[in-house]
Amino acid sequence: MISVANAISIVLEQTPVLGVEAVALPEANGRVLAQNIVADTDLPPFDRAQMDGYAVRAADVATTPARLRIVGESAAGAGWHQEMKPGEAVRIMTGAPVPAGADAVQQVELTRELNGGGEVEILASVQAGRSIVKQADEIKSGELVLRAGEEINTQTIATLASFGYAQVSVGKRPRVAVMATGSELVDVNQRPGRDQIRDSNNYSIEAYARLAGAEVQRLPLAGDDRDLLKQQIADAVENCDVLITSGGVSMGVYDYTKTAFRELGAEIYFERVALRPGKPTVFGRIGETLIFGLPGNPVSVAVTFNLFAHAALWKMQGGTKTYLREVQAVLARDVKGTRERDSYLPAVLRTDEKGTLLAEPLKWGGSSDFVSFARATGLVFITADRSEVAGTVVKCLVLPA
Ligand code: AMP
Ligand code: MG
Repeated sequence: MISVANAISIVLEQTPVLGVEAVALPEANGRVLAQNIVADTDLPPFDRAQMDGYAVRAADVATTPARLRIVGESAAGAGWHQEMKPGEAVRIMTGAPVPAGADAVQQVELTRELNGGGEVEILASVQAGRSIVKQADEIKSGELVLRAGEEINTQTIATLASFGYAQVSVGKRPRVAVMATGSELVDVNQRPGRDQIRDSNNYSIEAYARLAGAEVQRLPLAGDDRDLLKQQIADAVENCDVLITSGGVSMGVYDYTKTAFRELGAEIYFERVALRPGKPTVFGRIGETLIFGLPGNPVSVAVTFNLFAHAALWKMQGGTKTYLREVQAVLARDVKGTRERDSYLPAVLRTDEKGTLLAEPLKWGGSSDFVSFARATGLVFITADRSEVAGTVVKCLVLPA
């Protein structure tokens, strides 16, 4: 048995970074940057008014009310590009360039126009610099804004657009094939007969893999028939970067997944991890295709996918986010660990009225209890051979959603 940390390192070591492609900005959300993003202009590109009002000299309005002559207008997209002199004001709009000679903007609510717009009375004084964002205050042209390896998210899009990235260079999406194994399985649109259950693993792995940026192909359900399974795996690895199977990796008489991998010449990097749930997780390679043989229990699938396959999928895209986000939370009830294995227990993470993050491990119904798992938002980490009492601060991983 190897440790979880060790297993993750092996996954990262064995996982190649796929190539790079250019995508149009509207397609870039969720992708991993394959280039650094650099500001191609100062922002703001000029001293910018932050209010609708009048550009003034602060010294001219030190005592108020002060009367100034309106000499022009600076609108967004159409500035007033002359020198403003003492005793003068320029009518200005939010987003417009502040004219040379002005050093503050007084908001329109504290002014009054006189003489049909020829003059303005400033009703309150302003400090120099007021309501002006100086050129390059936000960023200077040439500065690095985002780094290769970061994930593009909705907050990033405005930055990419502002610096002219109509096309962005991103890591290629891994092609993932998902294959549930087990003679008891029927697909979601079927009513299970005697001794049967519906497959859920294919669908949850597909959902997690898509969140991790993969293109996913769901393969037909595979029964526990050694030769057929072998054939289906052989076909599957021809057309994908990563094959993720579920089921058939334990000690049962009909657990053929590992045998099939081996007989197809797989190199197996690990097949037992000191982890609960998810001990029999297999990781290897057939030809150029990485293979993850996840256990069959739906909760084990969620845990092992997110610890191991998640790391591989982000690495393939060149992403730095290979590990789930880690937080510290206060354990809401006592939890027993497991002998010789670290536990990653599904939990609800919630903030109490004092603002403290609490982790409430789900009532542990075994790793098959995906109905309780439906409420989980995180995984509580419990070190092997330890038990933790309510009130202890524990490490938790946040499940992707
Ligand atoms: P296995 O690892 O094949 O022994 O499966 C362990 C448990 O998980 C068994 O109770 C299976 O019926 C269940 N299981 C396996 N595959 C799936 C699946 N795709 N969807 C839902 N449950 C499954
Ligand atoms: Mg099975």
